[in-house]
Amino acid sequence: MERKITEVPGVGKKTEKELSDLGIRTLHDMLTFRPRAYDDRRQERRIRDASIADPSISCRITVLRHSEFSSKGGRTLKVSAEDDDGTHIELLCFNRYFLKQQLRLGSSWYIYGKAMRNRGIYQISSFEIKKTKEEAGIGRILPVYPLSGNLSEKLMRNAAEYSLHALSPIPDELPQTMYERQNLIHHSDAYKNIHFPSSMEYAKAALNTLAFTELFIMELSVLRERKQGARKKSSPTALEKKLVSGLPFTLTEDQLKAADEIRADMDSPIAMNRLLQGDVGSGKTLVAWLTALHAIAEGKQVAFMAPTELLARQHADGAAALLSPLGIRIAFITGSVKGEGRRLLLKSLKDGTTDLVVGTHALFSEDVSFKNLGYVIIDEQHRFGVQQREALSRKGSNADILSMTATPIPRSLALTLFADYSVSVLHSMPKGRIPVKTYLVNEGRRDEMYKSVGVEFQRGHQAYFVYPRIDDDGESDLRDVTTMFEFLKDKYPGVSSALIHSKLPDDEKMGILRAFKDKKIQYLVATSVIEVGIDIPDATCIVIEHAERFGLAALHQLRGRVGRSTLPSYCFLVYGSDLTEEAKARLRVMKETNDGFRIAEKDLEIRGPGEMTGDRQSGFLHLKFANLTSDLDLVERARAEAERILIEDRGLLKAENAVLRTALLTKNAKEL
Ligand code: ADP
Ligand code: MG
Repeated sequence: MERKITEVPGVGKKTEKELSDLGIRTLHDMLTFRPRAYDDRRQERRIRDASIADPSISCRITVLRHSEFSSKGGRTLKVSAEDDDGTHIELLCFNRYFLKQQLRLGSSWYIYGKAMRNRGIYQISSFEIKKTKEEAGIGRILPVYPLSGNLSEKLMRNAAEYSLHALSPIPDELPQTMYERQNLIHHSDAYKNIHFPSSMEYAKAALNTLAFTELFIMELSVLRERKQGARKKSSPTALEKKLVSGLPFTLTEDQLKAADEIRADMDSPIAMNRLLQGDVGSGKTLVAWLTALHAIAEGKQVAFMAPTELLARQHADGAAALLSPLGIRIAFITGSVKGEGRRLLLKSLKDGTTDLVVGTHALFSEDVSFKNLGYVIIDEQHRFGVQQREALSRKGSNADILSMTATPIPRSLALTLFADYSVSVLHSMPKGRIPVKTYLVNEGRRDEMYKSVGVEFQRGHQAYFVYPRIDDDGESDLRDVTTMFEFLKDKYPGVSSALIHSKLPDDEKMGILRAFKDKKIQYLVATSVIEVGIDIPDATCIVIEHAERFGLAALHQLRGRVGRSTLPSYCFLVYGSDLTEEAKARLRVMKETNDGFRIAEKDLEIRGPGEMTGDRQSGFLHLKFANLTSDLDLVERARAEAERILIEDRGLLKAENAVLRTALLTKNAKEL
């Protein structure tokens, strides 16, 4: 039975709620609640020690005199005092008139706070005053916690202290030998020192131990779940060969290798969980279709899930063009497919007359069921939540899963969040691709840019113009698609164009994209709806306005809309006048490199890992002590230990590993 936080004296109904907002419901939660900083009061600091650089004082004072002065708030108490050196100080007791009773003339107190020197006199207005040295925390390092509502540091410290005592003796959480091997401190010391460290070195050692433990338990649980199976080489079926021989190009080495890896997984009895990573335009979709044929040849059904209706339709079109001639029966499902059409479609999935279904998250609606779903492909996987992906794979028994992404995953994340995946990577681009040339454009060079795009139109090539807003709401000076659509019509008379943004119905959006693909439209004026996945080979220019407002990943995705054929392509990043340093850094990265992996690393540097993990982070990872950006070394050590333990004692049956079995059980219980 877990002991509730309400056990702590002074924690009533209201405080309980506020603590619960911070995730603290039990004494154990308090124990594992990490201070955001420490307040080092070990050194006694006399009044004379206060400086502008470090104004803190912590010492004993004796009260000399009371007086008053008037301020905005009315009468304010001023207490004059001196420390043991005889240095004078004035305590300005704003809103604390009651201190008059307490701070009697001649009485001694311990004070802690920040003093200022004002015309030669030390003054202090924010201070704590305590009867004893211990109460004032002098001689100790105190934790500073993140707070919410009316919580005070005092209450939090109290709760931490109480929890430490109430739960002691705190048992070890790792096998004995690991402490020595990994240079860790025992957990009773670690918890004590994360809250009330005896030195800053100890605080660090405590954090190191707790972070390691957290990462290690996570690695252990993920690696333990990971299924192991023998691999045998599998060969492509006749269907696959037929698809490849009909293509107007040859597959890249990496595409072939990825397809081999996927096939081998499919032909093993253990369900595949594989990530296909490849930069924008590297040709992931083809690998998906090719391997879909492998599953279909074995009588399985395939589901392909895309994050937006637009993308799903584009893929359904692509699949129809490529796979229907091979006799594959394809269906398309989204939330907007309704009525009789939907009924028939659902029936064909259930009775197995559809081989391949392409759709949005509507694929895992409750009414969708399959005869024999054997292969699930998830495009742009970072756009989906864990729950969504899992819901889809549950529709098949033991279905193989391929998650595709153009967002490279930095190593620290690959080792933790994605530790349960095997990975295939498309490093190389299809033959003949010319890297997109990127220009940074300021207002002064706008006309030049319009001219360059005009030249591309004369060559029969196509373009995208991207703006951050749909229409002008009068409040900002951002350019919007609606206004710019009209403006560009004047700029390029006689050149056909269309406006596309998220508020248009999907059918209309799709109609526009088809017309664009068929070259009936020469340029699109768009919001970032075109960001992900849209594939129009003859588009050679993309103009992104207010580029400073887009994140690196989004810019890279947008730029990836061009350079998808052997034609030279151009990306114009138009920026405003007052750029932040961060925005400048981002634009420079875009100009310097086309390499999605470099861009992702830079992104991680500039932004931290939060966004890159999507809701894998929230659904799966609750890291309290470890930091995936800075603790790569710790991640690798935790991983190595987890692998070692699982090799030595996969069932965790050894006595010294009993603690780990308990830890995994608790972890699983918490996540349910
Ligand atoms: P992404 O990896 O960004 O999803 P796509 O799968 O959309 O990329 O592929 C981009 C374009 O490259 C598509 O038009 C596709 O037909 C084409 N493509 C794929 N593989 C090859 C290849 N081996 N050689 C030439 N073009 C290819
Ligand atoms: Mg794609």
